Amino acid sequence: MNYLDWNHAQKRGGRRRGDANAEYLYGRLEKLGIQCVIMEPLRGGALSDVTDDIRQQMARARKDDTPARWAFRWVGSHPDVLTALSGMNRMEHLKENLETFSPLEPCTTVENELLARIADKMSGLPTIGCTTCAYCMPCKYGVDIPGNFAFYNKAVSEGRLPLPDSSAPDFDEKRVAYLESYRAAIPAAARANKCQDCGECLTKCPQQLPIPTNMSRLVEMTRKKRD
Ligand code: SF4
Ligand code: SF4
Repeated sequence: MNYLDWNHAQKRGGRRRGDANAEYLYGRLEKLGIQCVIMEPLRGGALSDVTDDIRQQMARARKDDTPARWAFRWVGSHPDVLTALSGMNRMEHLKENLETFSPLEPCTTVENELLARIADKMSGLPTIGCTTCAYCMPCKYGVDIPGNFAFYNKAVSEGRLPLPDSSAPDFDEKRVAYLESYRAAIPAAARANKCQDCGECLTKCPQQLPIPTNMSRLVEMTRKKRD
């Protein structure tokens, strides 16, 4: 549960169709009087690494709060949330999380509306719903699955993807920059074009992503040329 999957779980790129929105699931548990233990409050880290535009919107409302704190406050503001599980790998994350929840300052109506608008905007982006959990790894053909998807998603959220309109004036420039940054970020042996479509990773992905199909999508991105 997070402010993006609250209403947009069904629409997230690459996810199995028919995923229930968190709002529906929370509502069901609420009716039954069952408290919730929340996974993915940051949606696999994606909500801590938002675009500059979203960061600025958040800063205008609460200038000292990080995007991660916004996401945690939103989750914690729901009365039937018992706990939120968060993968923390730095002491500063732990400190920030403790400060956020002790005591928690619940989101106001205006803040909830801001996050809902942000989620609406994010859900329109053609990202791949990978949480970089790496359960699909290793790939026997050497593909760095989470690395490739993380690279692609970052390019989408930063507006660096040479899409969707190949007739756009900056298409060639974006394409070259995208290719260069891809080659710098992912070693040749771990790139999407090494995928052999063996399908072994498919059953390991908790998000049920069509991994080989998405790898083809990434390969297409590196082939795309102006007509
Ligand atoms: S389908 Fe592709 S990415 Fe998945 S394990 Fe096979 S080669 Fe690796
Ligand atoms: S298992 Fe799925 S969600 Fe996790 S890293 Fe692999 S592709 Fe991404």
